[in-house]
Amino acid sequence: MEKRKRFFLEERDIPRRWYNIVADMQNKPMPALNPATRKPVTLDELSHIFSVEASRQELNTEDRWIDIPEEVRDQYRLYRSTPLVRAYGLEKALDTPAHIYFKNESVSPVGSHKLNSALAQAYYCKKEGLTNITTETGAGQWGTALAYAANVFGLELAVYMVKVSYEQKPYRRSLMQVYGAQVIASPSMSTKAGRKILTETPNHQGSLGTAISEAVELATTVPGCKYTLGSVLNHVTLHQTVIGLEAERQMEMAGEYPDVVIGCFGGGSNFGGISYPFLRHNFQDGRRTRFIAAEPSACPKLTKGRFMYDYGDEACYTPLLPMYSLGHTFVPAGIHAGGLRYHGAGTIASSLLKDGIIEAVDIDQLESFRAGVMFARAEGIVPAPESAHAIAATVREALKAKEEGVGRTILFNLSGHGLVDMSAYDRYLAGDM
Ligand SMILES: *Cc1c(COP(=O)(O)O)cnc(C)c1O
Repeated sequence: MEKRKRFFLEERDIPRRWYNIVADMQNKPMPALNPATRKPVTLDELSHIFSVEASRQELNTEDRWIDIPEEVRDQYRLYRSTPLVRAYGLEKALDTPAHIYFKNESVSPVGSHKLNSALAQAYYCKKEGLTNITTETGAGQWGTALAYAANVFGLELAVYMVKVSYEQKPYRRSLMQVYGAQVIASPSMSTKAGRKILTETPNHQGSLGTAISEAVELATTVPGCKYTLGSVLNHVTLHQTVIGLEAERQMEMAGEYPDVVIGCFGGGSNFGGISYPFLRHNFQDGRRTRFIAAEPSACPKLTKGRFMYDYGDEACYTPLLPMYSLGHTFVPAGIHAGGLRYHGAGTIASSLLKDGIIEAVDIDQLESFRAGVMFARAEGIVPAPESAHAIAATVREALKAKEEGVGRTILFNLSGHGLVDMSAYDRYLAGDM
């Protein structure tokens, strides 16, 4: 019998609602705090920075399902559903009894899952009458996704890009500019926060923390401008649940259910996006699926960080978040997986990890590239260096299944492709890593 390799949904079956896992958590995450008052942040305070609707979603702990606006779903139809693929090639390369599936978010026009939230956030800003939006970007994927989305909904965008990435990844800057965004290397002299950092550390190579400080400062000082964030926060993860909700139906088409779900972990949005729709069946139906977040050894907040209230940024502009963190002044080494260089973990994932409901592993850079190259040769897709961490964790699980001589169904999220990261692969192939 011919074995089916790829599974797609009909357009009418693209999800109409996102899944809010907080509604189903017995132990809900502790609230984000206003650092000045030490009281839980209010809708008023949040919507000073973010669109009102995103702020509402951020604080929503009650509604399990939240409607996807028709205008956003209409944009999703351009690239969704994304394929669920049975990775026969990788299974063969590993000679494993495990069945490996991946959800391919790299097929979005911008090459990563980030567009799922960018479209939603830009839409809300437009609907609320704003003219400008701003953000930070690490490796450039979020900035690229938002540049595309800002253009779709007719907004002006200024992106603060982490300096090390701005220099290492000039093509992501070009992509953002092609879509019409203005791109500034961070730390920069254009904000108070940037000037302070550069005065103290003239050679600062930037981090998501410094870029967030600059973007938030712009959003709170320029009228008609709001800030958007590509990871970490609850509403971003909410938007990404479209990944897992599709995968749930596609796994059904494949006649399987995952024993293990794996995602790479920067701030937690693609991990949560693929995991939480399945985790709801652990909560509701007694399923025993394991969930593994794969983070880089160079930025190990989940495996080596401490659970605490910490700032989301270097300059302490954001609310205090209850999360696993390496401290807001932590500057990770300049690894190539720029999207994973963030000091903290989203509050939902942090709370789930603290309660032993999800697991985390750390992967060093060499192991991630070894897995990435193996995947490219077996499945034809060059993965983003971030996604390669999920692949490395998948390889570990598949080899464990082989050692134990048991079948196991593994699902991982391929959060993006690496075609704009070829200089990193060059370094790996040259043995220079
Ligand atoms: C941004 C990014 C990540 C990390 O962000 P999360 O919010 O943790 O998902 C992972 N992979 C890719 C391709 C990214 O662009």
